[in-house]
Amino acid sequence: MTEQIAKLREIIGNSENIVFFGGAGVSTESGVKDFRSVDGLYNEKYKYPPEEILSYSFFVSKPDEYYKFHREKLVTDGVKPNAAHLALARLEHSGKLKAVITQNIDGLHQAAGIENVLELHGTANRCYCMKCGKPASIELITKGTDVPYCECGGLIRPDIVLYEEQLDERVLRESINYIKAAEVLIIGGTSLAVYPAAGLIRYFAGNHLILINRDETPADRYADLVIRGKIGEVLAQI
Ligand code: ZN
Repeated sequence: MTEQIAKLREIIGNSENIVFFGGAGVSTESGVKDFRSVDGLYNEKYKYPPEEILSYSFFVSKPDEYYKFHREKLVTDGVKPNAAHLALARLEHSGKLKAVITQNIDGLHQAAGIENVLELHGTANRCYCMKCGKPASIELITKGTDVPYCECGGLIRPDIVLYEEQLDERVLRESINYIKAAEVLIIGGTSLAVYPAAGLIRYFAGNHLILINRDETPADRYADLVIRGKIGEVLAQI
């Protein structure tokens, strides 16, 4: 590992245009559980698989069931950024890191002080009325216990991308542009199995593709550097 860290440091030291692409593994070191995981108690609590609950059609037809799940699995109040987020913040402040593209919805990159975060799946830290479009207080979701409604009568929804929904076109386009222009692309904490990760990295035309993940990924064979390890522990050493 020491040799790989040295190589990682060298690549970062020689580059002025780095982009980071991260997945759920970046948040797990902060104690955020992967909401797709179905544990032993899951089936006692929920009658539906997580992918179904997190779909648009489920949300609008059974908002009470949806919010029961959301409040238990997606609300991350009190969770703090970890070593990976903080290392990325330092890299951004140094001017080398141009963008963080994330599949996470927990806002931990921003909490670490990172400014340019592209949230492919939206954020659980904002919500709005589906009828009039007005932003609503997130506390209606994080602190409330009922299905939240706007004063206009519309259903309030979190600003996340649900299954069956398209990604935000602006976020996707910007992500592609940053990846296209990057000299170095660091991918961390993702198996690259979830759409659109695998497709996005095909736009990378730079010098160094770096993968940091605990397990093997399908993109390992394209990478210049593969580091098997916890993302926070690895990035803390750069
Ligand atoms: Zn409204």
